[in-house]
Amino acid sequence: MKKSVALMLIDIDHFKYLNDTLGHHKGDLIIKHVANRLESLLDLNTTLARIGGDEFVVLIPDVKSTSNVDSIALEIINTMAMPFRIDCQDYNLSVSVGVSMNPNDSSTAEELMTHADAAMYRAKEQGRNRFCYYSDDLEHQFKQRQSIEKLLRNAIEHEEIDVYYQPKLALASGEIVGVEALVRLRDENNNLVSPLDFIPLAEETGLIHALGLSVLKQSCAAAKDWADKGYKIKVAVNIAAKQFTDKNFCNTVAQTLQETGLPSELLELEVTESALMHDFEEIKSMLNNLASLGLAIAIDDFGTGYSSLSYLKLFPVDVLKIDQSFIRDMLTDTQSMDIVRTITSLAHTLNLQIVAEGIEEKAHLESLIELGCELGQGYYFYKPMPKEAFDALLN
Ligand code: C2E
Ligand code: MG
Ligand code: MG
Repeated sequence: MKKSVALMLIDIDHFKYLNDTLGHHKGDLIIKHVANRLESLLDLNTTLARIGGDEFVVLIPDVKSTSNVDSIALEIINTMAMPFRIDCQDYNLSVSVGVSMNPNDSSTAEELMTHADAAMYRAKEQGRNRFCYYSDDLEHQFKQRQSIEKLLRNAIEHEEIDVYYQPKLALASGEIVGVEALVRLRDENNNLVSPLDFIPLAEETGLIHALGLSVLKQSCAAAKDWADKGYKIKVAVNIAAKQFTDKNFCNTVAQTLQETGLPSELLELEVTESALMHDFEEIKSMLNNLASLGLAIAIDDFGTGYSSLSYLKLFPVDVLKIDQSFIRDMLTDTQSMDIVRTITSLAHTLNLQIVAEGIEEKAHLESLIELGCELGQGYYFYKPMPKEAFDALLN
């Protein structure tokens, strides 16, 4: 093996908890003790640095074999297992260590750091008090994230965010009464990337605001176009939790309605239950402001989240969308059937509209009609489609 460099990122497990319960003075002392123990393990060639509150970096310049690195990482973990004596009292703690190697997995100093960080998070995920190398699958995950982020930025910049529309029908009559707008992203090979793979990333990176706005604008413009042609098709747009934290969100919606000329009663916003479980007063005033624009508010994936029923009365909610997992299983699993039945009757009691999603079979449709569920969408009727295809369907 050629000489290589190893970088270890060491993070004290649950340090925030220790610091909060013991007080900052003892917290500081613990960090000093940890630093001393680390120092005592390392030789003169090795660099030790504290890079954050409870984070240390160890840089080993001439690694001859990975088993060397293994044993240093193990020593670090074992030495932390001995209690720390502070003010005549013993405290126990552990550390998680992430390891990155140059040139094995990283070519620059910056990469060494980000990879060690990713490995350290993996060690935490696996239960803490352990070390973890930056590995092939982490590498794979990391690269995939990076490439999706790049695709997303590119698509936003070049206005290449696509929106597909899935028809929503009145179940009894089969009439199309609305659509759900579903965002689509294409990779270099023109393959579709699932929103489940890029919405969370868009939320983490803040790209969700630009992405959400593009979807909203396109959806409102599409519904306005249909209305102009004489079709009253309500468009339902998914709103991510992060978009709700934007104080300006309601203005953005109002402005989009104005710019596109879409009557607000043809717009519905879908939010998940978990998006509503934040600051109660803030969410309430946001929803009230949105409702006062005249649009409808739907709770998406209903039944999978906290399902705290109280908010249904306290928030201006108009529609419940039963999660597709219950529809999928309702014919084979009595519990799912009971949930669909209960949600439907709850919705009726509270005067809410009910939408079943994920209807794939005729038998689903028949049961849902019997239960009194008015609206639905699913592959049994139509898959999501580009605007042109929906235009053709209307004609
Ligand atoms: P969702 O809002 O619950 O949307 C329904 C998902 O179920 C869509 O997946 C739709 O294509 C799929 N679906 C519809 N009918 C059937 C069916 O009969 N069987 C099955 N198996 N699936 C069906 P899609 O388009 O992949 O979107 C996944 C999720 O991504 C959405 O779930 C929504 O939470 C999110 N999403 C999609 N577009 C947007 C968007 O513009 N903004 C935000 N924030 N989230 C979005
Ligand atoms: Mg939805
Ligand atoms: Mg849903």
